[in-house]
Amino acid sequence: MDEKYDVVVVGGGAAGLSGAVALARSRRSVLVVDSGEPRNAPAGHVHNYLARESTPPAELLSLGRAELAGYGGEVVAQTVTSIAKGDNGFEISLADGRRTHARRVLVATGLVDELPEVAGLAARWGRDVLHCPYCHGWEVRDRAIGVLSTGPMTVHQALMWRQLTDDVVVFRHTHGDFDEAPLLARGIRIVDGVVAAIEAEDDQLTGVRLESGTVVAREALAVAAPAKTRADFLAPLGIEPEPVEFNGFVIGTRVPADAAGRTSVPGLWVAGNVTDMRAQVVVSAAAGLMAGAAINGELVEEEAAEAVRRREMPFSHEVEREVARANEHPPFDRGSWEERYRSQDEMWSGRPNDQLVTEASGLEPGHALDAGCGEGGDAIWLAQQGWRVTAVDFSTTAIERGRAQAAKLGVAERIAWVAADLGEWVPESKFDLVTSHFLHVPSAARTVAFARLADAVAPGGTLLVVGHDPADTHAGRPHMPDMMFTAEEVAETLDQSWASVAADARERAVVGTEMVVRDTVLVARKR
Ligand SMILES: Cc1cc2nc3c(=O)[nH]c(=O)nc-3n(C[C@H](O)[C@H](O)[C@H](O)COP(=O)(O)OP(=O)(O)OC[C@H]3O[C@@H](n4cnc5c(N)ncnc54)[C@H](O)[C@@H]3O)c2cc1C
Repeated sequence: MDEKYDVVVVGGGAAGLSGAVALARSRRSVLVVDSGEPRNAPAGHVHNYLARESTPPAELLSLGRAELAGYGGEVVAQTVTSIAKGDNGFEISLADGRRTHARRVLVATGLVDELPEVAGLAARWGRDVLHCPYCHGWEVRDRAIGVLSTGPMTVHQALMWRQLTDDVVVFRHTHGDFDEAPLLARGIRIVDGVVAAIEAEDDQLTGVRLESGTVVAREALAVAAPAKTRADFLAPLGIEPEPVEFNGFVIGTRVPADAAGRTSVPGLWVAGNVTDMRAQVVVSAAAGLMAGAAINGELVEEEAAEAVRRREMPFSHEVEREVARANEHPPFDRGSWEERYRSQDEMWSGRPNDQLVTEASGLEPGHALDAGCGEGGDAIWLAQQGWRVTAVDFSTTAIERGRAQAAKLGVAERIAWVAADLGEWVPESKFDLVTSHFLHVPSAARTVAFARLADAVAPGGTLLVVGHDPADTHAGRPHMPDMMFTAEEVAETLDQSWASVAADARERAVVGTEMVVRDTVLVARKR
């Protein structure tokens, strides 16, 4: 009870239990709160429920509760007094003072039949004072049936009961203004006067007594009672029951909802008689199932959206932290890079950069320079492809990690690790491949550094420079405009010693996210 459920179902009749079973079978945590007064409780049996014909109402619900328990759903015998909606779902208060919480609420509280004030009538309700020919008609076929006229349903009701017996009497009672023609044509008698009481003997209805004292012998009495939806406790949420009309007359109320049971309050659903006064037991059960399935569908969608958000969140947070750090300490000095590496066990994935794999896969392995090698993902991959590699970075922490990883992967002897600042370091030899990925240095220093790297390429060798494209304004990108450059800008600094220069901006999917970013890619071959 203290925990938060996926769904709390208010009302454990056919609609509520059926919705709860659908939800529990979908592995939702479900609590049913039920005050134990289903509408048909006075009736001996449930009819027109396929394959459960004549099951007593209490037995049907007890079977439903057992099914629900089998799937892990819970039922508590209580009355819900109020429901409050917060940012994070619903708080449901019970009459005993307890509270529980849920992401969604399914209200299946049914309705109240507002019985006419006739002495002895309420006591016989559901037994031989009847409302529905489908629920009880067969059981009183060929018997003497009376119809109490209290509203616009009189003629319709009388004709329905006439289908089941030749002996129907309509009592004008409080609503004598109806079309008599169809009744008389079908052999239905009409009795004037107000009904005062129901007569019974040996717990059987025997007659209808008028105020005049006349008793008309009857074995059953049909009553069309107005139906009041049980939804007063939803008023603070802004749920206003609406009238249900028949032939232009109001015959009851319902909580407005769409076909699946979705109300005007997001997350609050209804099913059964509370929204559909005509729903039989099997129809209410079906509506509960529909609402339960729709609620599960809504939760599935919500969880998927949340998963997408979470999946992107760590990256965004990382970027946010990086930007904040960048604003505080410029990230291009040795100290701040060192600090970044030390602040976590592993900064990069260890995978080689996509553009390196694309460009170097077709090259004959020789001697490569990885400028700004970080933890050595690219250098190690090159070594695994057969290259001898000089890997340079000014973070000794990153270099040590690269060295350890290379040893682990059996390529230690192929890589020379150099802890040095690329702004100062002058290579002692030329390289068949000089590669630099995402070297975060400001524009002035970058020009000098790239010129030095270009100079380090041996005749016939390749220069590969990859960076962040300045046009990449993707929300997840760090805002460091001075660190971003186009391949064309780098190309302009190259002299005539190059046989080919290709400047490109390539889209790349960021691993583990649905983000697509743009890489600046310069590939130049020396004559
Ligand atoms: C006398 C009679 C006989 C009937 N016979 C038949 C029949 O043979 N066949 C048939 O198909 N239909 C029959 N019906 C219609 C049948 O009763 C309804 O179709 C059915 O009950 C609707 O189911 P429901 O789940 O919507 O509501 P209900 O069965 O009325 O269940 C609502 C539940 O919600 C609970 N509740 C209400 N408010 C709260 C609250 N605030 N907190 C917690 N719990 C609450 C109630 O206690 C109740 O248990 C009959 C109706 C009557 C009046």
